Amino acid sequence: MKLPIYFDYQATTPMDPRVLDAMLPYFTEVFGNAASRSHAFGWKAEEAVENARAQIAAAIGANPKEIVFTSGSTEAINLAIKGVAEMYAEKGKHIVTSLVEHKAVLDTCKHLEKNGYEVTYLTPEKTGRITLEAVKAALRDDTILVALMWANNEIGTLNPVREIGALCHEKGVLFFSDATQAVGKVPVDVEADHVDLLCLSGHKIYGPKGVGCLYVRRKNPRVRLVAQIDGGGHERGMRSGTLNVPGIVGLGKACELARTDLEKDAKHASELRDYFESKIFAALDHVHLNGDKDHRLPTNSNLSFKYVEGESMIMGIKDIAVSSGSACTSASLEPSHVLRAMGVGDELAHSSIRFGFGRFTTKEQVDFAVEHVVAAVKRLRELSPLYEMVQEGIDLSTVNWQGGGTH
Ligand code: PLP
Repeated sequence: MKLPIYFDYQATTPMDPRVLDAMLPYFTEVFGNAASRSHAFGWKAEEAVENARAQIAAAIGANPKEIVFTSGSTEAINLAIKGVAEMYAEKGKHIVTSLVEHKAVLDTCKHLEKNGYEVTYLTPEKTGRITLEAVKAALRDDTILVALMWANNEIGTLNPVREIGALCHEKGVLFFSDATQAVGKVPVDVEADHVDLLCLSGHKIYGPKGVGCLYVRRKNPRVRLVAQIDGGGHERGMRSGTLNVPGIVGLGKACELARTDLEKDAKHASELRDYFESKIFAALDHVHLNGDKDHRLPTNSNLSFKYVEGESMIMGIKDIAVSSGSACTSASLEPSHVLRAMGVGDELAHSSIRFGFGRFTTKEQVDFAVEHVVAAVKRLRELSPLYEMVQEGIDLSTVNWQGGGTH
């Protein structure tokens, strides 16, 4: 087995060879600028872009004209939220989002707050889910946008998107969903789910990095946006810049595979994930599942190993590539904002590890991971005075910590 083994599919995915094959001709033979209208080089590039647009639209139940290419989800999120905020400012300046969104959403909202907008950040349930009731209670007459993710990148929790979408449509409020982690793992249908804007990204679905798109509804209602990048008026004026043709072809192919292989991929990942969790829970005590067991991506397992520090754990399982619930985005050891918003205490947040299972994960790899995780947790707990006390039956809540101790 080739080491280290990849269990970080939420961070990015390896490219599917079928995607690479589709892209290759567009780097060399078919290199035209899709905006060149005067010759065959341009026409061929444009044909490839339009084919990809149709593949992407088919994956999410949209019309190809509703797809706007971007450099990935971060850019699509900026375009969706700032674009709506600026376009509908006269209608209202209130936005509803949640505390567990990706930083691309949170930082964009913070930017708008500095510019006179008001943002309500919903607190999730303990499982990380945003309830319909919470959204309902937050809506105001001046609310112009609800921005809630389809699936959380850390804990895999799925929001009740369809119900929230229906509510937003009933109230005449636009609904944007960050579906970066959802596409290809759970069914996504912008019509049935009442979504007005949605983003996805190539590198999370076995496609290339640096390419993604924003779905922008064209009817019932027609969503209008203020462009965030001005230039030649590409993408119906919503996002200027020469199109990344090979990347777009790759995104199209990745979306086609996400649609055709969805059930197979989801079954494969969830079987391995469930097998992994059953082995871990059988071998170790004091393991806590972060997230919503019933409403969760098939690919995700976020576990806290009590009495083990996440970063030590990552060092202890060097042959397994995973992420921890602390540190991820910065040099400081801040616990994850997602786990914190869910009310997970700092100790459990610091001991959390995110495992991701994907198209190319094998049972052999999972067996290897189980063996190494169990061994590492046992080894690290042997060094933990707290764990020793628990084993001796000491009730930690009665201990007087003054005069030292671990933090
Ligand atoms: N939204 C979510 C939920 C994500 O997981 C990510 C990826 O980290 C992003 C947005 C940003 O995507 P991109 O890397 O395409 O900018």
